[in-house]
Amino acid sequence: MTFQDQEFLDRDPRIARVLIGSVDLQRRVTELGREVSAEYTSEDPPILVSILKGGVVFLADLIRSMTVAHEIDFMAVSSYTGQNTTGVVKINMDLQASITDRHVLIVEDIVDTGLTLTHLLELLSARKPKSVRVCALLNKVDARRKEVRIDHTGFDIPDEFVIGYGLDYNEHYRNLPFIGVLRG
Ligand code: 5GP
Repeated sequence: MTFQDQEFLDRDPRIARVLIGSVDLQRRVTELGREVSAEYTSEDPPILVSILKGGVVFLADLIRSMTVAHEIDFMAVSSYTGQNTTGVVKINMDLQASITDRHVLIVEDIVDTGLTLTHLLELLSARKPKSVRVCALLNKVDARRKEVRIDHTGFDIPDEFVIGYGLDYNEHYRNLPFIGVLRG
């Protein structure tokens, strides 16, 4: 843990602990940038689709370690998941770019039940892209209700509510430089 991580922790007693410190986080994100870059060529650059708002911090760091040409675009979705439903994703803000005949990389902050990502994949695939891959920073493997393919994962994490590095609790904590767990 860095001095800065500790400062954030000391300042707010509601943060129970650091799950992934900023140094480990940055190291893995840099690796992911290189991993992802190896899948594409600059002659046929991918569109990185970031899901607002949680995914923006990850995207911002990821693209700074990418070595292949790419574009970025944003989408805002909300998912409604009733107890026995499979969930439906509503688009609150759509992409600006057309993804038809383009390589698409969905950049997600976290995959939990997998419902949001499953619907997003269906939705984007219907627009006939050349390919759709998924890069997720965090993967709650034990919380999965819908099996979904993640091509690049940052970290597998336990089924706990996490905050920081873009992820919020009631719009707070997105600025934390680490992934933390709130006090229960
Ligand atoms: P899923 O559809 O996979 O269950 O959940 C996807 C969305 O739920 C994520 O993109 C994220 O917005 C939210 N989410 C799931 N788990 C967490 C968590 O531990 N912390 C926060 N802040 N959001 C979460």
